[in-house]
Amino acid sequence: MNSHPESVFINGKFHASPGGVVMELVNPATEKKFLEIRGASVSTAIEAIEGAHRAFEGGWRDLSPGKRTEILFNVAAKIREKKELLAALETENIGKPIADARDEIGLGAKIFEYYAGAVTRFFGQTIPVSKGGLDIALRQPMGVVTAIVPWNFPFPIACWKVAPALAAGNCVVLKPASLSPVTALMLGQLAVEAGLPPGVLQVVAGSGSELGDALVTHPLIRKISFTGSTEIGSRIMALAAPGLKRISLELGGKSPNIIFADANVMEAAQTSPMSVFANAGQDCCARSRVFVERAAYKKFVEAFVEATKLLRVGDPESDETQVGPLVSAKHRQTVEHFVQGARKGSGKVACGGDRPYLNGAYLSPMVVLEPSVEEPVWKEEVFGPVVCIRPFDTEEEMLREVNSSPYGLSGSIWTNDVKRALRVSRAVESGVLSVNSHSSVHVEAPFGGFKMSGIGRDLGMQALEGYSELKNIYFGT
Ligand code: NAP
Ligand code: MG
Repeated sequence: MNSHPESVFINGKFHASPGGVVMELVNPATEKKFLEIRGASVSTAIEAIEGAHRAFEGGWRDLSPGKRTEILFNVAAKIREKKELLAALETENIGKPIADARDEIGLGAKIFEYYAGAVTRFFGQTIPVSKGGLDIALRQPMGVVTAIVPWNFPFPIACWKVAPALAAGNCVVLKPASLSPVTALMLGQLAVEAGLPPGVLQVVAGSGSELGDALVTHPLIRKISFTGSTEIGSRIMALAAPGLKRISLELGGKSPNIIFADANVMEAAQTSPMSVFANAGQDCCARSRVFVERAAYKKFVEAFVEATKLLRVGDPESDETQVGPLVSAKHRQTVEHFVQGARKGSGKVACGGDRPYLNGAYLSPMVVLEPSVEEPVWKEEVFGPVVCIRPFDTEEEMLREVNSSPYGLSGSIWTNDVKRALRVSRAVESGVLSVNSHSSVHVEAPFGGFKMSGIGRDLGMQALEGYSELKNIYFGT
């Protein structure tokens, strides 16, 4: 891709943003520069917010639901039409394996289709109030919503904030992560080509620390939907407080993968490596703490390590690759800090933690056996291809350790005992669990965390609730 100096797509067009800082995008697989763009300045971000507000009052708010549905379906069709290009750009930008990139662009299209259909199925209520008359509780759009998204799943996360926000009748200012602005900017352009009125979706790439305050505190912003680190999420919550802005936050995780001896242990062991090493472990749902009932521990560990060694780590442009490089050499250094800690710690390294190639921000998937529960590699979010496995003796002891984490995003439970599956899934403090599976994200179901993993829910019909206000109207008759 050629250098595109413009990092904002606002009011229907790409714009230069004088005063913005130049960001150099490096392909992490080759460590070569592939694009340079100028980040949005604060004044450009404010222009985007004001333009979105004009688009809201100037027609989007009052557009018929049927027309909104039609436009959102058209956006989905445009995404499908450009799927190969979008996937290739994502791979070049952040080193995501091309097969995953294609799936994620397809997921983005599916999300737009779901919310296109949801527009006319997002019901209010009529309430038989005791006084008589007619009482209706009505869903209404909020106005301008800020969506701030991370670099690990840039396209689908942008879509799963933008699509429900637009479906509910809002306008959106989308800020992609500095490391991964390309597909978000293209989404802005494709949406306008698909018939979305200019200004309804504004895309401002640029530095979060520079633009964050304006995007959160500007008086025209009614809601901030954020996915990223717990640290920035809690900062956004504090910034949003004086203006009582609505927030939804999807933050970090340290998710458990729990295997009971009565489970199909081989299936669990063979599928579990990709539940943590997919996307090179840069996944808020990564099952990075594995708990195995002692009777199955040896068998599970052997099969898990064997399956891990078979993972195809390498060139993200190859269709065969399962694990690509980390997003940047700098992020690899952060992850290697945990790797070194684990090597010095009380656990045993079964495999991985090395740089497998001379070039590129690669790190081979690392399995750490039985580190102490006090060590950072066991307790903290690594956000890289590192997993820890420990045995447990009783369900109670295991649950105590699982729930001692400040996080509560996702997790897996493997057992063939139905009562135990129900009991344990109710006891684990996480927003998203899977039983005999590792599947966390379903367009139709709510997604989000307990505790320090966040507030509010993305996806499903629940996301629409988070992008609307509820108004009660009583009619005397
Ligand atoms: P981050 O700083 O939370 O970045 C996420 C988004 O927030 C990016 O768009 C970022 O913009 C923006 N941002 C940064 N500072 C901001 C501020 N002061 N106000 C408003 N927005 C701001 O995450 P990161 O630095 O990329 O990664 C750090 C760690 O966060 C990771 O190692 C991982 O543990 C966790 N993380 C979790 C998720 C998740 O899916 N839950 C995703 C990514 C990261 P810039 O890119 O311009 O800074
Ligand atoms: Mg950061």
